[in-house]
Amino acid sequence: MGVCCALELQRRGLSVTLVDRQEPGLETSLGNAGVIARSSLMPFNHPGLWPQLPRLLKNDTVQFRYKLSYLARNLGWAARFLLNARPAVFRQTVEALDGLIRLSAPEHLRLLNESGAAHRLRDTGWVFLYRSEQGWNSGELSRKTFAQYQVPTQVLQPAELAEIEPALAPIFHRALWIQGSYSVDDPHEVVAAYAALFRRSGGAFQRLTASAIRREGQGWIVQGAQGSGGSVAADRLVVALGPWSKGLLKTAGIDLPMAFERGYHMHYSGADGASLTRPVYDTGGGYVLSPMARGLRLTTGVELDACEAPARPLQLDLAEARAREAFPLDRRLDAEAWLGRRPTLPDSRPMIGEAPRHPGLWLALGHQHIGFSTAPGTARILGELMCDGGAASRHEAFRPGRFI
Ligand SMILES: Cc1cc2nc3c(=O)[nH]c(=O)nc-3n(C[C@H](O)[C@H](O)[C@H](O)COP(=O)(O)OP(=O)(O)OC[C@H]3O[C@@H](n4cnc5c(N)ncnc54)[C@H](O)[C@@H]3O)c2cc1C
Repeated sequence: MGVCCALELQRRGLSVTLVDRQEPGLETSLGNAGVIARSSLMPFNHPGLWPQLPRLLKNDTVQFRYKLSYLARNLGWAARFLLNARPAVFRQTVEALDGLIRLSAPEHLRLLNESGAAHRLRDTGWVFLYRSEQGWNSGELSRKTFAQYQVPTQVLQPAELAEIEPALAPIFHRALWIQGSYSVDDPHEVVAAYAALFRRSGGAFQRLTASAIRREGQGWIVQGAQGSGGSVAADRLVVALGPWSKGLLKTAGIDLPMAFERGYHMHYSGADGASLTRPVYDTGGGYVLSPMARGLRLTTGVELDACEAPARPLQLDLAEARAREAFPLDRRLDAEAWLGRRPTLPDSRPMIGEAPRHPGLWLALGHQHIGFSTAPGTARILGELMCDGGAASRHEAFRPGRFI
């Protein structure tokens, strides 16, 4: 998010310094499933969530696990998250996310070309897998929503699925191929290429662990943690720290209602060279399996817990067991599971814009499950708002004033 915002503001002629505690692209944007898809307009909190709650609250599914003490401390967030699953809010969210996703894809294509990373992109879409008739029926709201927003899809019977992904075991009742969508085979390399493009185009990079921000005169100061490179001053500051935005904004008196939908990944080799040609989402198994440059990347569903709580990779073990039913995974390729945190606000929409009562403080955060796909569109909206005043109605749904 930060790299795309830096590139967009640079393109608009501003003098931009990108600040990170490490090289850009080494956190959440490294470990995701690499999917850039029109179908991501469906938020996790949709009207079909309520009937699933009794099952999910048992805390034993790969799709959703939670730490009880964390949930208890964040009941307010959870209540708002659930309330925002009601149809009226859901419709607004879908509309807003669809706009953001449509805006982002062409921007990604432009940036991939300009940064020399276009070879990382596949245009083969991705596939939702359903293990039973009941599973297929529970996806009806998604399919209706896709149709309403002209997301191109094709229903696949088992034989058709076997034709496009022959390595999958014949355990699926039906599948939905999301077309007109993309994926990349190494999200980290893509972010690194975008960051290199920013530097090549004259952008400054400063490595600094931000410990606090404060307004000083007409501008903002980012204070570095002790021993991490001093401070940075700027006329305008964009906070795009993903899950770590919550902690840093607290130092400016802003209490963001952000929760952390954590998720794990692990890479595998395929037995006898078995592979996939696009990511697949096993809706009953609760995992995504993505072919990556490093191997087959298995990513898990959601674990609700504190940002910095220790990893509990049991969820990955459960996902692996389910994935082995569907695909001939061979051995693990990483020493330990990677842990990431999807930063989520109660209405599953990001915040893009200037923080109320904090002139010069801009926010680009809270992108939950779709921040890799929607970073370039977010950057466009931020640029429009910052440089052109941005009265367009598409900005309204992302107003920081919803929660600040
Ligand atoms: C398992 C999993 C699968 C996912 N799959 C997909 C997918 O297929 N498609 C998709 O679109 N999205 C996916 N996502 C979501 C996506 O990865 C995130 O929404 C996105 O990466 C968030 O990007 P970001 O730039 O906001 O945060 P990050 O990528 O986490 O970047 C935050 C940056 O802030 C820096 N930072 C943190 N603290 C400080 C500090 N104090 N000082 C200075 N710098 C700091 C970090 O070093 C980092 O570079 C997935 C997420 C997970 C966990």
